[in-house]
Amino acid sequence: MTDPASSLADVNSRIARAADIARRNANEVTLIAVSKTHPAEAIEPLIKAGQRVFGENRVQEVQDKWPALRAAHAGIELHLIGQLQSNKADDAVALFDCIHSLDRSSLVGALAKAMDKTGRRVPCFVQVNIGAEDQKGGCAIGELPTLLAEARTADLPVIGLMCVPPLEIEPAPFFALLDKLARDHGLAGRSMGMSGDFETAVMLGATHVRVGSALFGARG
Ligand SMILES: *Cc1c(COP(=O)(O)O)cnc(C)c1O
Repeated sequence: MTDPASSLADVNSRIARAADIARRNANEVTLIAVSKTHPAEAIEPLIKAGQRVFGENRVQEVQDKWPALRAAHAGIELHLIGQLQSNKADDAVALFDCIHSLDRSSLVGALAKAMDKTGRRVPCFVQVNIGAEDQKGGCAIGELPTLLAEARTADLPVIGLMCVPPLEIEPAPFFALLDKLARDHGLAGRSMGMSGDFETAVMLGATHVRVGSALFGARG
């Protein structure tokens, strides 16, 4: 399927079916269309087909790509799904409507300062290194209580947890673990599931799925 509108309809119906099987309401699941690396011309058809929530991973790319799209279409919501450097916190708070990559103390401080400066409070997910992988972003599971306490003290609006499970192995146990951690900490949001596994994530409690290639095709 190369037609963006039919890809979108397909992904939405797969989310609805997974939610239905799990006896969840599909309205509880937000589809984030991950448009990183794709040009405005590729994004426009999805907006025309009704999609409003998009995910990007680089501040600079958003500054280049989205002002014109936002001016042309009402109701666009941008989610940051990539690693954030502390020195970009001001830009991130100005540009994004949600941040999925809060993963360390220094970023708690930088984001709190940026939000205090502007008065704009951007909801955040704490990213968890759910598979305890050496190279992977996200806070260690053992450090999660401390990081959440720091975020609370700094008055950051933390709405949930986010993860990217290890590649090439069954993701379900990792989604279940993220769900449990979120429940233990009284957090409602679970940002989990990508093109290859979003139905599994929905069945295991995802509130936000981040889907790129299933909507846009492979990234170049
Ligand atoms: C790129 C990316 C996605 C989307 O991946 P697809 O496999 O193309 O759906 C989701 N989450 C994160 C954190 C990403 O970097």
